[in-house]
This record gives sequence, C-alpha cells and structure tokens, in this order.
Amino acid sequence: MDNESLECGTCGLIHEARKCPGMDTDRMRARFDVLGFGGGCVVVVRKSDGAKGSLDFDNSPRVYRDFMRA
Ligand SMILES: [Zn+2]
Repeated sequence: MDNESLECGTCGLIHEARKCPGMDTDRMRARFDVLGFGGGCVVVVRKSDGAKGSLDFDNSPRVYRDFMRA
C-alpha cells in the first residue's frame, strides 16, 4: 500500500509517512479534542472523523505525535 502522499492522520499535513514533524499545542488542539492526559500520552478525539485514540508527546519542546486509534 502506497501511502506516502496521504494526509497524515496525526498532523493533517501531506508528507511521507515516516517524516511526521509532530504538532505544537495550538495545532494539536485545532485537530483534536483532548479527553485527558496520562503518562507520556494524551487521550484525544480526532475532530475530522470522531476517531478516539491517543497521542504521544514530548515535554520540551512540547510536540505531539503518532496518533494511534484506540
Ligand atoms: Zn504528520
């Protein structure tokens, strides 16, 4: 399956699947509704399709990445 040019499920941009730059807080909150924070991840609902899942995040700088459907 060739998905190199599909819209990224995490950041919403078009890029190669392995090169996701992640998102800052503003972009994350524009794309996802936050349900809660856990250890190193945040539980979210993707606004575009209602998919529930989680994002990993780094604290400094704050970057959210790798949306995984629950
Ligand atoms: Zn991405």
